[in-house]
Order: sequence, then structure tokens, then C-alpha cells
Amino acid sequence: MHTTLEALLDDGHQPVVLDGAWGTQLQALGLEPGESPDLWNLNHPEKVKHVARSYVEAGSQIILTNTFGANRLMLEKHGLADRCEAINHAGVEISRCAVAGTAAKVFASVGPSGKLLLMKQTTPEELADVFGQQCAAIAAAGAEGIVLETFCDLQEILCAVTAAKQTGLPVVGSLVFDSGKKKDRTMMGNTPEQVAEALTAAGVDVIGSNCGQGIDGFAEIARRYRAACELPIWIKGNAGLPVMDGDSVTYPFGPQEFGDCVQAIIAAGANFVGGCCGTSPAHIAEVVRRLR
Ligand SMILES: [Zn+2]
Repeated sequence: MHTTLEALLDDGHQPVVLDGAWGTQLQALGLEPGESPDLWNLNHPEKVKHVARSYVEAGSQIILTNTFGANRLMLEKHGLADRCEAINHAGVEISRCAVAGTAAKVFASVGPSGKLLLMKQTTPEELADVFGQQCAAIAAAGAEGIVLETFCDLQEILCAVTAAKQTGLPVVGSLVFDSGKKKDRTMMGNTPEQVAEALTAAGVDVIGSNCGQGIDGFAEIARRYRAACELPIWIKGNAGLPVMDGDSVTYPFGPQEFGDCVQAIIAAGANFVGGCCGTSPAHIAEVVRRLR
């Protein structure tokens, strides 16, 4: 196992606490719908640092970066394709600054390309180049790991895994299970068992699932991953399913209910636990309180 992960997992054999949502936190600080959150690394670094710092203070042991949409294909939609390196570099720098003086580590967030291989909107060759560029920028800026997250397509994440592994950093591969009657399939129809087999073969260091459903659905995903492979498991679920009220979106699970679900996820075998959409530093602080 990668030494960075070994050190984190060996520490008292307790699960490692991750951070919570960034998008919903940035919206609370004024991010407008349709605006590029990633550009905030250059235009509003102090607000991005505030989000990172709030998770460090809540007790997160791994802090991600505001680089989820900072691949060239996603940035293109905002006319920012030529800022890829600068945005990723700033994102890692901001999170490193937020953890300075603490034991927390910075793992960089890499999201999907926004293009579908199935619809021939992109090719494996283009994805290798796009993710290769982003991962190289992240590694050069000093991130200690790479988190490929919120992927819906197993084929796409496999392209990203190959690119991320070239940096030599530990790689987390996290998919969304939001389809099928039991919400146990990816958009393309893959099961946790199929994902576990493919990601193990691809050489990821940690297998994960995030987003797409409320945190209460993740104990079953963790259990099935645990039965299907030997890899450490990373789980970040949403604070329940979003509730639309006019223009605003709220998430129903408060820190207590969230904490209950996380305990069940840990019992099912998860080694890394945090939150996705709708979770806040209060949710993470509650998880830390229960574990310590
Ligand atoms: Zn999410």
C-alpha cells in the first residue's frame, strides 16, 4: 500500500475522516448558478480557503481541493481551457495553505469530463490527455493524493485512473450509484462488484462511492465493495436526497442523522468517510465527535 495511505489507516485503526461538500458551501458564499466554481481559486481564493479551513477545523484528516471541474473539457464550457494549469495549481495551493500546521493531508479532486464516451463525444485517447494534463498539474503543485470522484461511467474513470497513476500519487476511484430499483448501479448499469473488479485490476489504491443518493443508501454499497475486493473503501454520501423548494435546494439530513448513517457505513467496512452534496462542517464535526 502507498505509504501516505498506510500512515493514515494505521493511525489507531480508526476510519479516516474526510471533508464535506464544497459546492453547497461556495454557493453560500455567493457562487452564482452557472459560474465556474474552479475559477474562484483565482478570483476568490480567500473564500475557497475559508471552506477548506472550516473542514480542517471540523476535524477532517483529508481535505480535497476546489478542482472538481478543472479539466480542460469542463473548463472549455466557461472559456477557461487555457487556464487549466493555473486553476489546478491555485486550488492545491489554497488547500495546502488551509492545512498548514496541522496533520491533515491534501488530496486533489478530479471530476468527470462532462463528455460521454458512449455518445462518441470524446475518445479514450482524448480523455487520457485531458486527465493527464490535470493530474500532472495537481502533482506538480504538491497534492498528496488524487481523488477521481462522481464518475458515472466505469470506462471513463478507467481512463482517469491510468492518467492519475502516472503521477505516482495514491489514487482514489469513486463512482456514483444512482440507477436501478435499489440504486446499486451506475448510470451505465455497472454493479459495485463489477466496479470493484475493474478498479482492482486498474490498480487504484482506494475504491469509493459518492453522491447520487442519500447517505442512508451507502452502507449497502460499502458492504458489497467489502465482499468483492480487498481495497480500502472511501464513502461520501449526500445529506439525504435534495428537496426542491422554488429556486432553492435543501438537504434533509442534519448532523445527527448523518452521523447515524456514517456509523452504519463504518460497520459495513468503510475506511474513509465524509460527506458529499448538502453536508457541512457541522456534519463532519459530528462524525469526528462519534469516532473520538
Ligand atoms: Zn455530491
